[in-house]
Amino acid sequence: MLIGHKKIWDFLIKSARQERLAHAYLFFGPAEIGKKTLALEFAKRLLCQNKKNDLPCQNCQSCRDIEKNSHPDVFALAPRQEEKKGVLKTYEIGIGEINSLRHQLSLSPYCSLLKIAIIDDSDKMTNEAVNSLLKTLEEPSAKSLIFLITSRKQAILPTIFSRCQAIGFSSVAQEEIIAGLKHLDFGDSISAKAAKLCAGRPGRALKICRNREILENRERNFEIFSRILKTDLVGKMELAGEMSQNIPQARETLSEWLLFMRDGLLANLGCGDLALGKNESCEKLINSQVCAVSRQIQKTKNILGNSSFDSKLALEVMMMKI
Ligand SMILES: [Zn+2]
Repeated sequence: MLIGHKKIWDFLIKSARQERLAHAYLFFGPAEIGKKTLALEFAKRLLCQNKKNDLPCQNCQSCRDIEKNSHPDVFALAPRQEEKKGVLKTYEIGIGEINSLRHQLSLSPYCSLLKIAIIDDSDKMTNEAVNSLLKTLEEPSAKSLIFLITSRKQAILPTIFSRCQAIGFSSVAQEEIIAGLKHLDFGDSISAKAAKLCAGRPGRALKICRNREILENRERNFEIFSRILKTDLVGKMELAGEMSQNIPQARETLSEWLLFMRDGLLANLGCGDLALGKNESCEKLINSQVCAVSRQIQKTKNILGNSSFDSKLALEVMMMKI
């Protein structure tokens, strides 16, 4: 279910009605904000066998197949993740996967009027894969529609960017997220808490509601962060080593730290009521330190998103600077 982003939804529905859909869209914005969900829901709406209004029916064979990721005309691609010796590694989308997708898109649709491809984390592609995809973007088929999704817009090559219609996603209002969560039968208390802690990202709010461990992890991340600000270099290096074992988790942890810094800054500016939680360690930092540390964390988070960099080294450099 899509929570928020009504303007984008209405724009796409209007484009579809006027038969003016672009052949490729680039959805960009923070992780877990709803980009992939919107692409999937829109794919359902386009291929729905029971179109009654602007929303997919969710009950027809097509809607159910897309939900189960088994629709013969809808292809979802994402970087592969694999755990090796306790280290979770993300592999870039390779040329083989893109060539296979291009081949599928070149064939006539199996049971619909359109073939739809959704490429998640499309910034994580090898150069060969990007060049191959460019050929499809340069000579689009009238019967295919491609959604490229990224939370790292800056990592998308200009040649790709210029061949897609780019749509930016921004935070969803807390009330809208609460209403969406309640609609999904989550209780008042957890809905309100998740909506507050997710910083405008409905996907994050849903994860919090479905997995209460995330709240415990948040507490743990907060403790670790408070400890880092006081600990010596040896302790910091040990933590960098631990974090480098699971990079997706490390990126998530850094996102949490950025929110802690935001809270600290708000508290220092006398706007503590807007903070997501209480964070005394950050409040003790002066504003210029908060900004410098935040920049360093953000920079490291960006580096961790690129699998060709040495993640452990990036984390160690960050630890030395904060
Ligand atoms: Zn349907």
